[in-house]
Amino acid sequence: MTQDLLDRYQRTMTNMFGTPARALVKGEGVYVWDADGKRYTDFLAGIAVNALGHAHPALVEALTQQAKTLGHISNLFTSLPQVELAERITTLAGAEDGACFFANSGTEANEAAFKLARRHSHAQGGTRPKVIALQNAFHGRTMGALALTWKPQYREPFEPLPGGVVFVPAGDIDALLAEMDDTVAAVIMEPVQGEAGVRDFPLDYLAKVRQACDDHGALLIFDEIQSGIGRTGTWFGFQNPEITGSDEPVTPDAMTLAKGLGGGMPIGALVTFGKEVSELFTAGQHGTTFGGNPLATATAVAVLETLEQDDVLANVRTVGKYLADELRALSSVKDVRAYGLWQGVELNTDTVLAQGQQLPAAGLAPAVVAKALDYGYIINATDATTLRLAPPLIITTEQVDPLLQDLPNIIAEAVAEAN
Ligand code: PLP
Repeated sequence: MTQDLLDRYQRTMTNMFGTPARALVKGEGVYVWDADGKRYTDFLAGIAVNALGHAHPALVEALTQQAKTLGHISNLFTSLPQVELAERITTLAGAEDGACFFANSGTEANEAAFKLARRHSHAQGGTRPKVIALQNAFHGRTMGALALTWKPQYREPFEPLPGGVVFVPAGDIDALLAEMDDTVAAVIMEPVQGEAGVRDFPLDYLAKVRQACDDHGALLIFDEIQSGIGRTGTWFGFQNPEITGSDEPVTPDAMTLAKGLGGGMPIGALVTFGKEVSELFTAGQHGTTFGGNPLATATAVAVLETLEQDDVLANVRTVGKYLADELRALSSVKDVRAYGLWQGVELNTDTVLAQGQQLPAAGLAPAVVAKALDYGYIINATDATTLRLAPPLIITTEQVDPLLQDLPNIIAEAVAEAN
């Protein structure tokens, strides 16, 4: 069955994504099953998306009811779920005078954020053509978001990209200050860099970037697409003392959301803070047919409501700490960068090799990811030595234990098979 589906995939689908690792047919909670009936514990959640896991009853109910009631209406009209979602997000973010624009993905949310930066410049006579982004940043694949994304392999095949973007070394405040002046419209950054391998900054970095933006009238835009919606144990990364180094949030002028917000339903959002920034877009300047439709927003409301009602963020903190502590105790693990249930696990290339063994040619972490699938775990590699874990936020300590037990064998087997 799996092979049949994969063959048909190869005949009809773009090769953009390489060969799919498996064909999946159903999911429940933290588990998914492939077309041959094999079960996997999902430590990736569709790349930090399935906040409530798979087929959560609250999500199924909200989506089903909404589909039976009102599915799509366009932005010529509004609906209760859309307004309710905007109210919930602005309240959770402490953006009381703020405003939401709903899109359908992360890259679209960042596209809107980029346009917000341009609007900020135009509001001042076009005097701010520059946007600062960070090295190693990932912001998406549409032309605007790609212009903010650092990796040359992603950017170069599509140049020329929208101009004015300057990249500075991530976490180096002096490098950022050297580029900062009154021609900067915005600094756009992730509070912790997800695709780069859950890479963090010095603890005072966010506050210093905030200050630099204030000093020069630039907008600070946080891309919370991966870090937001409880992933780190607070609603948003900018509220997490382990990220900001302070009990006070480092409040941005705007943030973007997607991934966990819909719990699997495609949705993105640009959230602006304060009246002035929220009024930069005027009617007709930006838009989308599907964005904010009742199906997506009703599902997102159910996600936020369930996370709140079930105190899932407390679970994120408890299970996240347990997972990180246990991983750090493994000799094959060199370092764990852990923020709640979002963890970059640096493998120790010195301790995993027996005498005479070589590292797998494709990289240790990708080989471990492939072997983990055989063992029934979905994990991910962000580079040759880093594993990324981003399981559903509802995962329990009992559900992470089997991976912790099996990981040393998975790593040893991945190495052995490459030799
Ligand atoms: N920004 C960040 C921080 C992301 O991690 C991603 C996706 O991985 C994106 C933007 C792009 O989101 P999407 O894939 O929904 O377009």
